[in-house]
Amino acid sequence: MKNTLLLNRYRKQAVTWVALPTVIAAGWIYPPAGFLLLICMIGAVGLSFFSGRSWCDWMCPRGAFYDIFFQKPGKGKPVPTWFRSPKLRYFMLGFIFVVLGSQLYFSWGNLDGMGMSFVRLLTMTTLVGIVTALLVHPRSWCHICPMGTLASLFGKGKKPLHISDKCTSCNLCTQACPMGLTPHEGKEAGFLTDPDCIKCGSCTVTCNRNALYFTQRAPKTDHQEKTKTRCT
Ligand code: SF4
Ligand code: SF4
Repeated sequence: MKNTLLLNRYRKQAVTWVALPTVIAAGWIYPPAGFLLLICMIGAVGLSFFSGRSWCDWMCPRGAFYDIFFQKPGKGKPVPTWFRSPKLRYFMLGFIFVVLGSQLYFSWGNLDGMGMSFVRLLTMTTLVGIVTALLVHPRSWCHICPMGTLASLFGKGKKPLHISDKCTSCNLCTQACPMGLTPHEGKEAGFLTDPDCIKCGSCTVTCNRNALYFTQRAPKTDHQEKTKTRCT
């Protein structure tokens, strides 16, 4: 079960990561190829309304690229808090959209110029992602990626990861998490509150106690529970 899920995930990522260097290389030769980046941007945000950041699991070529080439299995470590700070994330969100927006504005109507805006953006962010993957955490880019930030906002509470009281806080799930999250810390709440979970399932199959599982339904808040109790 564990090997099957992880192997299937790896197989899918082994296909999708190829799109990253392909689009970059193709874009520098034929700039309109840069418009393909829109698929990833729309996909990440669109899917978030139904299942949180699940696009970032294996469908995002960039995420797959970092998992395959930079992740050391079983060596999960948390991402530094400062790197995940809202200030840095919202700065990146604004900065990238201003840069992209202004480039599109000044090249409006010119297909090559507009396509090149996406190609330049993809090339630069990939280089930044590689440097931070080496220096900070393999998936560090995913914590400051503008589309990831939007997906985490729109996908909050979707397809939640539950933590049952069978959890013994052994920490294996944290070591397995490619995003550097700490699933077992949601034990008290009963579910992982971190909206950056990419729903990869690595933690669920790693947990020896079968304490982790997904549902499509958002967990009830304390307020909802109290209201329900009063009504019954
Ligand atoms: S691997 Fe399972 S038992 Fe261990 S900390 Fe994570 S949820 Fe708890
Ligand atoms: S918490 Fe679990 S499902 Fe979510 S990203 Fe980490 S390993 Fe994957």
